[in-house]
Amino acid sequence: MPELPEVETIVRALRPALVGRTILSADLRWSHTLAAPSPAAFKKRIKGQQILSVSRRAKFFNLQLSSFNLLVHLRMSGALLVKEGSFTPAKHDRLVLTLSDDLSLIFNDARKFGRVWLTANPDEVLGNLGPEPLDPSITPQVFYEHLHRRRRQLKPLLLDQSFIAGLGNIYTDEALHMARLHPLTQSDSVTPEQTEGLWQAVRAVLEEGIRSNGASIDWVYRGGEFQDHFRAYGRHGKPCPVCGAKIERMVIGQRATHFCPTCQPLEGD
Ligand SMILES: [Zn+2]
Repeated sequence: MPELPEVETIVRALRPALVGRTILSADLRWSHTLAAPSPAAFKKRIKGQQILSVSRRAKFFNLQLSSFNLLVHLRMSGALLVKEGSFTPAKHDRLVLTLSDDLSLIFNDARKFGRVWLTANPDEVLGNLGPEPLDPSITPQVFYEHLHRRRRQLKPLLLDQSFIAGLGNIYTDEALHMARLHPLTQSDSVTPEQTEGLWQAVRAVLEEGIRSNGASIDWVYRGGEFQDHFRAYGRHGKPCPVCGAKIERMVIGQRATHFCPTCQPLEGD
């Protein structure tokens, strides 16, 4: 599933093709792709809307239109594509927006978990998201307060989009390894020094992911190379790049979790 760096990479790739175009019509090919409004209202409202900007909030695409926001979440297998000229929609194309200048914006989604919203009030969809981890206002001090206000294990807490937005399984495992914190560490037990290390690690892995154009792994996005730099994620049984111990795998909150038992000891064990 794409995380913050993958979505950011796609936003940067799509932006030049989309900004300034006008949406001429919508072909909704699978109605459940649309979370809101109704298909009839969607087709009527989106017609004639100009795309003013393309940005990202957490793992959502946010297309600012003349009067609405078009929000897209790719979930497991969604992909956004821009095509030029006429084409025959593919089997898994769920939504095709015909744009000015002979372009089309296509939402393709084999597994059908992805969703699209058209709303005049994006907070209806984005309002419960936590802060962006790369936002400069999230200082180590603020992060420390947030960690101590919640009393949860670090792995599920970092995956909780209402705590911090944009992290998924890959970047969480990578950040915890870099910060030398066990994924089951209680969030209210981390010291200020550990918090600073975790804050720096979260930002470092996300920035490295963006520089690598994201990771190409278990979903349709193929382009980035961050998977060549994984320290822990998916590397169980292989040597830790820091100490050489075997990376271990455990399931926490139904999510496969990868960590080094030597670099990331569970304190109190
Ligand atoms: Zn290690």
